[in-house]
Amino acid sequence: MSADLTELYQQVILDHNRRPRNRGRLPTANRVAHGDNPSCGDQCSVYLQLEGDRIKDLSFDGSGCAISQASASLMTTQLKGKTAAEAQALYDQFHEIVTTGNAPDEMSDIGAFAGVHTFPARIKCATLGWHAALNALKSDPTTVTTESHND
Ligand code: ZN
Repeated sequence: MSADLTELYQQVILDHNRRPRNRGRLPTANRVAHGDNPSCGDQCSVYLQLEGDRIKDLSFDGSGCAISQASASLMTTQLKGKTAAEAQALYDQFHEIVTTGNAPDEMSDIGAFAGVHTFPARIKCATLGWHAALNALKSDPTTVTTESHND
C-alpha cells in the first residue's frame, strides 16, 4: 500500500469497514432515502427514525467500496440524536474535511477522512451516505445522484 493509500485508509476507516455500525434496515424508520454513486458502484440506503426535528435512531445499508461503507457507518454514529440543523452542520464540516483535507483536532473520527481530498474521485464515495441521510431528513425518497436508478 502506498503512503497516500495508507493515509486514506486510516484505522478509523478500516475499523468501520470491518465492523459497520448501525447496519441494516431500521424497523422503526419513518424516513428513508437511497444514494447511488455510479462512478464507483456504491449504493447506500439510509433509514431514519425522526421524532419531531430530531434523529432518534438511524441505520444504513448498502454495498460498495471501503470508503463509502465506512463513511456511512461513521455518519450513523455522528447523526444519532442530532436535529436536522445539526446534521446539516456536521455534513458541512465533513464536506470541508474531505474536499480540503483540513481536519480540526476535535473532529477525530470524521477527520480520518481527510486523506480523501487527495483522491477527488473518492469524495463522492465519502459523501454518499451523508447525502442520503440529508435527503431522508428532507423526506425526499429519491436517489441522490443525477443519474437515473431503477431497482
Ligand atoms: Zn466508492
